[in-house]
Amino acid sequence: MFDLVVKGGLVYRNGKIEKADIGISEGIIREIREGINEDSKETIHANGKLVFPAFANVHTHVSMSLLRGIGSDLPLMDWLQKVIWPLEGEFVSPEFVKTGALLGILEMIKSGTTLFLDMYFFEDKVGEAVTEAGIRAGLGFGILDFPTKVARTPDEYIKRCEEMIVQFKGHSHLIPVISPHATYTCSPSTLRKSLELAEKYDVPIHIHLSETKSELERVKEEYGLTPIKHLENLGFLSERVIAAHVVWTDEEEREILKERKVNVVHCPESNLKLASGIAPIPDYIRRGIKVGIGTDGPASNDNLDILEEVSTMAKIHKGYSMDAKAIDARTALKISTENGFSMLGINAGIIDTGYEADIIIVNTDSPHFQPLYDPVAQFIYAGKSSDIETVICKGRVVMYKREIKTLDEEKIIREAKKWGEKIKNFMDKNLMLE
Ligand SMILES: [Zn+2]
Repeated sequence: MFDLVVKGGLVYRNGKIEKADIGISEGIIREIREGINEDSKETIHANGKLVFPAFANVHTHVSMSLLRGIGSDLPLMDWLQKVIWPLEGEFVSPEFVKTGALLGILEMIKSGTTLFLDMYFFEDKVGEAVTEAGIRAGLGFGILDFPTKVARTPDEYIKRCEEMIVQFKGHSHLIPVISPHATYTCSPSTLRKSLELAEKYDVPIHIHLSETKSELERVKEEYGLTPIKHLENLGFLSERVIAAHVVWTDEEEREILKERKVNVVHCPESNLKLASGIAPIPDYIRRGIKVGIGTDGPASNDNLDILEEVSTMAKIHKGYSMDAKAIDARTALKISTENGFSMLGINAGIIDTGYEADIIIVNTDSPHFQPLYDPVAQFIYAGKSSDIETVICKGRVVMYKREIKTLDEEKIIREAKKWGEKIKNFMDKNLMLE
């Protein structure tokens, strides 16, 4: 007896598409074969639809969904210093974080994502939203050297972070993560304390790394080393580290990343929009560095759509390297599914027996899918997230035929609009974008 059977789908397994039923119980894929006829509490008929692993978005600041669209055409440092940090100083609160997270999660479920790795303030509120939604997240507790509403000193951030780790360690859907923001916002002492805490509780570390050229110059000026060499010098780099962006690297640094087994999160659309550059991802992959993909915060993308992100990734690297095989469709799919889940130690992102059931069902009836010759390539290059009809996280159906089963979509959008009004009023009074 299964909890859930997905019947009659065209399932992506071992790099191929095969017609099969999937039997799931206790959140795990137990059987994949044609003609599963055993009893099941729930059955989904996926007749002729594509069945892929769900996406993992391994770098975001989900609650920034409420700041989406502000300061649209600024480069990173101006955008942060003139717009984002002042607005966060005014508005970020547990309520802001919760509503922003719910809004972002709606969007992520509707585009097939069941795991995200966050970095922000009041992550316990992100955890609440994730739990209501029935998906999963790495809760990256943001650590900085300067005071915010969360803490005044680095030691206070570390203390609060430890409290969050204790609260969520061992949770079925939430993973506590330590997130020192970057080498230009955290001193060597703060980084060392973050590392010690990560080792004490055996949790991942999530950090921004070598995102822009100006970051490199700034860190070099202060410490005489580039961000990656600076972290290497501090003994910070290991398999535990999930580094976002990693756009600016030289030969020596790439070898350090490989040697230390650092996980790299590619954020192509954020890097394009903030004019940060194009990360040398095909080179990292050739070297054997593990690469995942992230949208970055929805205020620098400006959405949380991983299918769009993956399509952009595959295309920019082909164009930039003038090599049509730089990142192929199957590699793109692996980066956005299996690699992301494994960075957080989750046994999902692959459809096979023994893996946790994080699955999406894709309707291919739309004109842009016709005729269907190569389902994987057409999903990556022509598919739209609105084709994703059903989303399953750890065996639980969180969206069925485009309807979110776990959250009240209308209510969340109403709340988000109210925040929008407040923020607009504040900006009008303070003329922030002059
Ligand atoms: Zn970021």
